[in-house]
Amino acid sequence: MTAGRIFTHEDLTKDLTVECDVCVIGSGAGGAWTAHELVKQGKRVVMLEEGGYHTRREFDMTEARAFTNLYQELGDRGTDDLAITILQGRSVGGGTTVNWCSSFRTPDRIIQTWRDRFGIDTLSTEILTPHWEAIEKRLHVAQWPLEMINANNKVLWDGLGKLGYERSLIRRNVNNCLNLGYCGMGCPVDAKQSMLATILPDAVEKGLDLYANCSARQLEWSGRRVTAVKAEVIDPAKNRFTGVRVTVKPKLTVVSGGAINSPGLLLRSGLDGEGRVGTRTWLHPVVAMLAEFPFEVKAFSGAPQSVSSHHFIDRGPGEVGFFLEVPPLHPLLAATASTGTGALVQDMLGKLPFINSMLAIHVDGLLPEETGATVRLKDGANFKYSITYDFKKAHWDAFRFACKEMAKLQFAAGAKRVASLHLDPVVMEKPEELDKLDAARFEPVRMRVLTAHQMGGCAMGKDPRTSVVDPHLKFHTMDNLFVVDGSVLPTSLGVNPQETIYGIARWAAQGIATALA
Ligand SMILES: Cc1cc2nc3c(=O)[nH]c(=O)nc-3n(C[C@H](O)[C@H](O)[C@H](O)COP(=O)(O)OP(=O)(O)OC[C@H]3O[C@@H](n4cnc5c(N)ncnc54)[C@H](O)[C@@H]3O)c2cc1C
Ligand code: SF4
Repeated sequence: MTAGRIFTHEDLTKDLTVECDVCVIGSGAGGAWTAHELVKQGKRVVMLEEGGYHTRREFDMTEARAFTNLYQELGDRGTDDLAITILQGRSVGGGTTVNWCSSFRTPDRIIQTWRDRFGIDTLSTEILTPHWEAIEKRLHVAQWPLEMINANNKVLWDGLGKLGYERSLIRRNVNNCLNLGYCGMGCPVDAKQSMLATILPDAVEKGLDLYANCSARQLEWSGRRVTAVKAEVIDPAKNRFTGVRVTVKPKLTVVSGGAINSPGLLLRSGLDGEGRVGTRTWLHPVVAMLAEFPFEVKAFSGAPQSVSSHHFIDRGPGEVGFFLEVPPLHPLLAATASTGTGALVQDMLGKLPFINSMLAIHVDGLLPEETGATVRLKDGANFKYSITYDFKKAHWDAFRFACKEMAKLQFAAGAKRVASLHLDPVVMEKPEELDKLDAARFEPVRMRVLTAHQMGGCAMGKDPRTSVVDPHLKFHTMDNLFVVDGSVLPTSLGVNPQETIYGIARWAAQGIATALA
């Protein structure tokens, strides 16, 4: 087979129609592994990616360039009420180009829950294990050594140790990592084993044609079959359509645009799964605490995430569990995440080298009353969606509990001041002041909630009345349409999602190849 090619808006100056076996829409975690496995089997695969083709040569470690080129809505995606800030990737490699390298297999209890609640009998830890083994080998997934963790992660490690809480070192998908800490801006030395640096080049070498700056706008369909994918070329300087159209005529289509965008494309195409597409979207809602230390923490330097704790992952019936990690803190991200304005933010940025932030990442989708986020089309918007999140009391109770625990950990690690991310931040100078958080308003917009993990919206399940794709990831009412990305997850995970999505995609590709035959 001849090698494939990567096309960008500069190559796409005239309308064009291409035929292929499979059109994969989206080049992130799910799309990359699916395309790779299919080209390996000799299938002709065309991939469309809305974002640009940016490589390490452009990754100059500046946030301004990174947010503009590599994130959905310039890093400013959010829920309609602005209660949740949504960080999500948008370039060749999708979220994997900007993620922080934490690599976890799916917890067994989550796969069991999917089996028990949604009839997903096609997946098990045993079935996914050989896929994870192959993926981990290719992506050099290995535990980050304790002696290499940065001072920001050391705060979490020390705090957990002092309080006697469970703690572990994170496995990272890196090869020859220089410990720079700029993973969120694109790794400048390709040490991060993102899809951009690994599986996509492998796939292109084997014949994948990848069209960057090319947004799938509509799936044309008739009866139970998708007949064409209609895409528009984007001028990245203006983020507007150039007027050039790309039409793909595939035998089979795989939607891998990620949670939020995959439902968006299906809704635009009139494939709403009887109203279910876009519902039950899970965000792993994150609340954070900031702490000032008497020593340098430099949360902007060194491997961003290397320590985690699942001590509070299962808080008992009716409670929302969470896991703990730390984020990197570069100036723009720190300012975006902060809730204050003016002098308060200026003061925090002035002290940035001494600031630690801790994250409590909440496991949503496990309680029967949870409905999560709902994604709907927004009139006149090409790349924005209406996103609403239905917070329950259990979420706010968990957020308050988590903020207290994080403050305890930060004080245990030596913090001299700890602050919440409320509009009126709760500032505490010693552990005895933790009760101040009881009086704080844990409500939408009053406190910052963030997410970097989007899941669901095209949930898999056996019953077409409660799910969008079947347990092989085929759209229930179509014969040649699959969805393979984070959007198929029926609940959130309780671990960072990339490896779950890689594993499911590598597994699903086998079924897709069979469906093609
Ligand atoms: C800042 C940050 C840090 C993170 N850190 C971690 C971490 O440490 N560990 C971890 O496990 N996970 C992490 N994640 C999450 C992880 O990267 C994502 O869960 C994962 O990449 C999602 O995979 P996906 O295939 O669902 O979608 P994505 O990887 O987001 O890929 C979807 C792609 O499809 C493209 N697309 C969307 N719509 C269209 C369309 N209509 N036409 C063409 N293309 C389209 C998008 O532009 C995007 O490139 C992080 C994410 C972020 C943003
Ligand atoms: S920490 Fe490692 S993987 Fe991340 S940007 Fe630096 S060199 Fe790349």
